[in-house]
Amino acid sequence: MRLVFIGPPGAGKGTQAEFLIKKYHPAHLSTGDMLRAARDAGTEVGLKANEYMSTGQLVPDQVIVDIIKERLAQPDCSEGFLLDGFPRTIAQAEALDEMLKAAGTPLDVVLELRVPEEELFTRLAGRGRADDTPEAIKTRLVGYRNQTSPLLDYYGKKGLLKTIDGLGTVEEIFARIEKELDSLQ
Ligand code: AMP
Repeated sequence: MRLVFIGPPGAGKGTQAEFLIKKYHPAHLSTGDMLRAARDAGTEVGLKANEYMSTGQLVPDQVIVDIIKERLAQPDCSEGFLLDGFPRTIAQAEALDEMLKAAGTPLDVVLELRVPEEELFTRLAGRGRADDTPEAIKTRLVGYRNQTSPLLDYYGKKGLLKTIDGLGTVEEIFARIEKELDSLQ
């Protein structure tokens, strides 16, 4: 199964991605995790990316597209993958389409985890990650609204989008995801 998981920061995407991977076993491609690992390892890309991450801005498209291209070429992705945190802009989505088209491996589904914005700010403020300062949170939420939410229309028009209500318990939300994914198989 090849899927994209979209949701604003604080929607609970990370938790649901873990559940999903345990049950369906796609390769997990989280660009946030990859960038944090690169930053912690002190690589050139990681240190450059951190200048954006620490203020809540998006890392430039070309940087992230190159990372994903390399990752998708690895053998574990041939059995399916979950893209978590990518694409985040229309330019990234178009680059992904080209990559997958060239490989003959189109997406099966795009899951959107939907949570109202007021709820997100409260959740993020309580999380305590290094890039969860109030200013960075605001920047990330505005970034989601302006740069990432146009993807919903983009994938909606392709007939790939499934919207999941992101309010409720972790188990309730995962049950909604399972229902959508099981109906694809
Ligand atoms: P996340 O863990 O997905 O919230 O990502 C943390 C930070 O990494 C984001 O605030 C961005 O600065 C950067 N980042 C992660 N994925 C992307 C992406 N697809 N495009 C641009 N920047 C990204």
